Amino acid sequence: MYPDRVVSGMRPTGSMHLGHYHGALKNWIRMQSEQPCLFFVADWHALTTHYDDPSIIEKSTWDMLVDWLAAGIDPTQATLFIQSKIPEHAELHLLLSMATPLGWLERVPTYKDQIDNLANKDLQTYGFLGYPLLQAADVLIYRASEVPVGDDQVPHVEMMREIARRFNHLYGKEKGFEEKAQDAVKKLGSKRARLYHELRTAYQQEGDDAALEQAKAMLDDAQNLSMIDRERLFGYLEGARKLILVEPQARLTEASRLPGLDGRKMSKSYGNAIALREDKESVTRKVRTMPTDPARVRRTDAGEPERCPVWQFHVVYSDGPTQEWVQKGCKSAGIGCIECKQPVIDAIVKEQEPMHERAQPYLDDPSLVRAIVADGNEAARRLAQETMRDVREAMGLSYG
Ligand code: SF4
Repeated sequence: MYPDRVVSGMRPTGSMHLGHYHGALKNWIRMQSEQPCLFFVADWHALTTHYDDPSIIEKSTWDMLVDWLAAGIDPTQATLFIQSKIPEHAELHLLLSMATPLGWLERVPTYKDQIDNLANKDLQTYGFLGYPLLQAADVLIYRASEVPVGDDQVPHVEMMREIARRFNHLYGKEKGFEEKAQDAVKKLGSKRARLYHELRTAYQQEGDDAALEQAKAMLDDAQNLSMIDRERLFGYLEGARKLILVEPQARLTEASRLPGLDGRKMSKSYGNAIALREDKESVTRKVRTMPTDPARVRRTDAGEPERCPVWQFHVVYSDGPTQEWVQKGCKSAGIGCIECKQPVIDAIVKEQEPMHERAQPYLDDPSLVRAIVADGNEAARRLAQETMRDVREAMGLSYG
């Protein structure tokens, strides 16, 4: 099996806000210490909806990268890179497009939603229709085992899996595969080779899933196999094909959703966002002027936290006793709204302090960010090139 690897990208939207932090970045930060992670700026994806005004993309890319680093993405743990610096993504996108049925793209639920949501833009373009396929290429090119997603993105990962399966089915017929697989079996040593054959037969003839799992575990443990032989033996277990592209799993993220200051989704375009590195005075002013339960006209009116956007902030930021204090105080008119907002202000400011500190060196010397990304681009490109060598060979394009 190929090594476990997480791949995830974000469109460069400029400075990030706390909604991004709680919705995605915190997950990235957790994952980076658990397994190898590749995080990329999806600048080509930004073009699918902003092809008519690309001027903002470059600045947004660098701003976003500083925010990632400020939030706690650690370049010594994760690989950070820019999608368009790895042209292999485009090559794989093109090659996958040859065999991807149009219907697969048209039925991706977010395609129709986005067209409706962005009615002011002309999205009847080839690039926009193909963006889930570009997403598939972004992930499959790294043979990612997992993609962190929210519920709405699960169909995209499902499509990536279908594309990988179809590709392996169409092109995984390596010349002389049977012989090469048999040679690889011999390298297991006679005892394990016998066991491999027995387990393979049990799976293929009796559909014994436990035998398949046992055989896979044995291959994982076999130290003396090269990566390519291991892949052949995995493919040989399930049929007579080589697995060139890996089917990634969707990893549902347990993101806490932080709404905007007015209770709608936090978004810069709604004017209801708090930036990741917003200064303290501005955070204080924004939270103090947040709308509250409309029924609380006077200080003496009892309120209902469920009707108040401030409560949603307490859900994310406050501990149990503080939440209880809000519930009781609001419903009994025992506390005022300004009083209620103070713990939220304090928590946000506290959360942001280390972010300001981490960002400062990169703001003082932007070449540090450039260097991190240059290293990341190089590392990502090496992995992408490995996959493309196999893809080109499988599709008869290696001309070796
Ligand atoms: S007391 Fe707190 S929860 Fe209740 S309305 Fe005021 S700000 Fe909202």
